[in-house]
Amino acid sequence: MEALKTMIQDMFGKDCSTCTNQEVYEALLTYTKKQLAAKGYHEGKKKIYYISAEFLIGKLLSNNLINLGIYDEVAEFLKENGKSLAEIESVEPEPSLGNGGLGRLAACFLDSIATLGLPGEGIGLNYHLGLFKQVFEDNLQHEVPNPWITPESWLTATDVTYMVPFRGFSLKSTMYNIDVAGYENKAIHLRLFDIDLADESMVHDGIAFNKKDILHNLTLFLYPDDSDEDGRKLRVYQQYFMVSNAAQLILDEAVSKGSNLHDLADYAVVQINDTHPSMIIPEFIRLLGEKGIGFDEAADIVSHVCAYTNHTILAEALEKWPIHYLEDIVPQLVPIIRKLDEKVKAKYPAENLAIIDSNNLVHMAHMDIHYGFSINGVAALHTEILKNSELHQFYEIYPEKFNNKTNGITFRRWLMYCNQPLAKYISSLIGDGYKKNADELKKLLAFKDDQKVLDQLLAIKADAKKICKDFVLENTGVEIDENSVFDIQIKRLHEYKRQQLNALYIIYKYLEIKGGKKPERPITFIFGAKAAPAYYIAKDIIHLLLTLETLIQNDPDVAPYMKLVMVENYNVSAAEKLIPACDISEQISLASKEASGTGNMKFMLNGAVTLGTMDGANVEISELVGEDNIYIFGESSDEIIKHYEKADYNSRAIYEGDADIKKYVDFIVSEPMLKIGKEEHLRNFYNELLNKDWFMTLLDLKDYIKVKDQVFADYEDRNAWAKKMLVNIGEAGFFSSDRTIEQYNKDIWHLN
Ligand SMILES: *Cc1c(COP(=O)(O)O)cnc(C)c1O
Repeated sequence: MEALKTMIQDMFGKDCSTCTNQEVYEALLTYTKKQLAAKGYHEGKKKIYYISAEFLIGKLLSNNLINLGIYDEVAEFLKENGKSLAEIESVEPEPSLGNGGLGRLAACFLDSIATLGLPGEGIGLNYHLGLFKQVFEDNLQHEVPNPWITPESWLTATDVTYMVPFRGFSLKSTMYNIDVAGYENKAIHLRLFDIDLADESMVHDGIAFNKKDILHNLTLFLYPDDSDEDGRKLRVYQQYFMVSNAAQLILDEAVSKGSNLHDLADYAVVQINDTHPSMIIPEFIRLLGEKGIGFDEAADIVSHVCAYTNHTILAEALEKWPIHYLEDIVPQLVPIIRKLDEKVKAKYPAENLAIIDSNNLVHMAHMDIHYGFSINGVAALHTEILKNSELHQFYEIYPEKFNNKTNGITFRRWLMYCNQPLAKYISSLIGDGYKKNADELKKLLAFKDDQKVLDQLLAIKADAKKICKDFVLENTGVEIDENSVFDIQIKRLHEYKRQQLNALYIIYKYLEIKGGKKPERPITFIFGAKAAPAYYIAKDIIHLLLTLETLIQNDPDVAPYMKLVMVENYNVSAAEKLIPACDISEQISLASKEASGTGNMKFMLNGAVTLGTMDGANVEISELVGEDNIYIFGESSDEIIKHYEKADYNSRAIYEGDADIKKYVDFIVSEPMLKIGKEEHLRNFYNELLNKDWFMTLLDLKDYIKVKDQVFADYEDRNAWAKKMLVNIGEAGFFSSDRTIEQYNKDIWHLN
């Protein structure tokens, strides 16, 4: 730590003990960046370029220290100087470069690519104000900018710049780097492209701004509101800016390593993360054309470079851009896309295979599938649904392109960092091997009947709940009971994830307690979720939750037995505090709709027991842990898909046919709720449930209540519960993103 000491002296002219936390943070930032650069970066002839609109990387200081192997040393040094690493971390702003699971997956993948020593990089955009910061006011979500870039940050400007051509003007880019350390290995780069003239001052009234001022707004926000045409066009501007920079960088790197571009596939493989980067396909063809490579050969080259990951079967998320948007914004791509489409139509005339459909919409996923060499889903069930229904027409013509890559999470952040007491205890039982080879967690299963181990797991959980209590108090001002059961649902707010189903259970429980039926032990229901700014139903659900929170808190008959608390601005830092403390992991999406989920994996790894539907990776979790160690409810994905095909789901009929369900649903707009909440929002949601309920909340409600009550009953057998915890941790090894990345490499990327 001599070097760090000297650095602090040089930077601030004093020693560590007299520095502010801000100063110590800046010194550690500089120190860590130097250490990373000194270790060097993974290089090789062929490289994986992981292109993504989002990278939800979380705070970086601690993770970098862990991966550099100096975390304990630094923590000790700070302690000797009267500082705490935890407090210094609280100075660090969390980068706001992602929205949810897809962006967090990209971040976990970078960690694993670096850890496994693969030459690779992430490519994305440097959003100055992030997605948005969520604030609650009057029990409603409001959005404000989330600036995260400070003068001293993990970003390093490079001298790499490109010109990106749009209709009528060009934009100059600058590339920034963030180093991502591998665990006990070299680093890789996350490349973030930016414009030089971004003007944060144009934002007013929350997150409103002039959507037409592309020169100044291009990299302000991730996913700008697309409820109007200007917003949708801004997304196209952003996407093209991202992929044009990426394609220029990739071609330059290949050439510098000796490629003649005809052999590009020997130098580069591009993983297209969802459809946002899909325009890289025509952009490559355009740039190869400028270098003298003819259309057909260029299309063939690209087809050996690009691979596509599908993340959802929700139709609204498979992007389709009107061709006239592309004419207006990137006219240079339009003849290329038309030619790609003509080639497809000559061979496969069916409308559902077309890139450009009869409404002149460009189907980005279809372009990826025709002109990429691989298409993967993100969990076994999801890939089967792609093959058998959503993308069946493509599976019939390209069966060899389809493959599954079940998602994973990095155990460095989601165990070794966020739950240090558990990680240390695991090491004491089975050694450190699991940190590099997650399968070794299975060794824990040998302790299934070891009373001391089971007791210790419960003690570690109890400690985590105390720490979590402090976080919740600081975040919300609400004091929770660390001896209650922690039932947690944290994830983006979306109807398919069915936070509203959980809300209806809470109403049921509230009414039970009102009627005198008290739970064995108090329950704390914890939520965290952002709703997309223009997604009104999601915002109404947040209002429902916050209204229930107040109602319960104010009711002396009920408050001692249950509490609902919704943390504000759910992000990675919040997840790191909540997940280690969780008893019951809520994974209750409508079967077939959650492609994988990764929150489910983080909870399992930290000894929570899943309450979920047979959806996404829950299916694989249940196969691994066995039915005694997970709680499954609800209709199967096959049944759900049939309901959609037959259009036979009728929520009003369920409501009218079941007095209990009617009672819970009616409660949403009851007198006590309307006294606290806003009638407009509560009634909107009530009507939505009765008249549409597109994600079939009422279908699974009765079964959910039954199974969830069983969970709370079983929780009281503490020994049996501790066994479930142990089995969940022991079987979590499969969900390491190291395993996922090894599979990507073996089946798709083929790096040395
Ligand atoms: C893991 C994670 C997610 C994804 O959660 P799901 O439950 O899989 O949707 C979203 N946001 C953050 C901050 C996360 O850490």
